[in-house]
Amino acid sequence: MDNYQCRKCGMQLQSDDTPRSASCQEGNSHAWEKLGEVGDINFQCRKCGMRLQSDGTPRSASCQEGNSHAWEKLGEVGDINFQCRKCGMQLQSDDTPKSASCQKGNSHSWQKF
Ligand SMILES: [Zn+2]
Ligand SMILES: [Zn+2]
Ligand SMILES: [Zn+2]
Repeated sequence: MDNYQCRKCGMQLQSDDTPRSASCQEGNSHAWEKLGEVGDINFQCRKCGMRLQSDGTPRSASCQEGNSHAWEKLGEVGDINFQCRKCGMQLQSDDTPKSASCQKGNSHSWQKF
């Protein structure tokens, strides 16, 4: 299973094979980029805030905020629910995720819920 993202609209999905290029809200069809294997580590892009679960640092690919994604590792996927008090992002982690960069400024402020 691999993570894919459309370079044009930013849509994200997991698939075994290159997804079909159905119609993209940005015009014509989706332009899929492969981001790498789905795995047990949470990553987030510091720039656009996109989040995914990968087995290693995802490929940089194209970031909606320009150039390529800037991935930060947030920690192992687990069964504890965390939410950032500032940006509202939710995450399942095995321990308090790394603070990393928050879209609302400085770093995430995690709380269990
Ligand atoms: Zn698209
Ligand atoms: Zn990004
Ligand atoms: Zn946050």
